[in-house]
Amino acid sequence: MIQPINGKFEMPALPYGMADLAPVLSQETMLFHFGKHLQTYVSNLNLALPGSAFEGKALEDIVKTSDGGVFNNAGQFLNHALYFLQFKTPTSNNVPTGEIARAIDRDFGSFEKFKEEFQSKGAGLFGSGWVWLSADAKDKLVITQEGNAQNPLTKGFTPLLTFDVWEHAYYIDYRNRRLDYLKSLWNIVNWDEVNKRFG
Ligand code: MN
Repeated sequence: MIQPINGKFEMPALPYGMADLAPVLSQETMLFHFGKHLQTYVSNLNLALPGSAFEGKALEDIVKTSDGGVFNNAGQFLNHALYFLQFKTPTSNNVPTGEIARAIDRDFGSFEKFKEEFQSKGAGLFGSGWVWLSADAKDKLVITQEGNAQNPLTKGFTPLLTFDVWEHAYYIDYRNRRLDYLKSLWNIVNWDEVNKRFG
């Protein structure tokens, strides 16, 4: 759970530097996407909290119970926190390990089949949004497309992995080639972090 400190939310502390995900995500993309887009969502949410029903609540609770502008900023804050915290420096032949690897094989047949479906749902989402891997109430894995600031938490799922398909996530490095961006992201997924969320 992401909790406010003295009434305010803080930016996530990343376990890597702004230039460390290149060439998958350039330093310029990180400075804009993490440094400006995410910062704006966090600042807007903090401005909306004082005196509201959401003051002092955990971010996940706000996402589950809010709507309108509070939901949009809280949802985008949570989505981006989960997105940026799931990455590590690029590794070639980067594959899942542990429990999540077994569950992917069980529910999708193979990692290759899972990647195909995940990429295709990400590429096929019209407009702005997110593609998610989540666990349902019975720990079965599901892939969903969520528009704008939506998060699978609101469907009762546990979010495990997400690729941002808003244009601001890829336009600096990949221009309009959303599928190329999605395919590159597999090289920086930190499967240890995904396993932690699954556990
Ligand atoms: Mn984004």
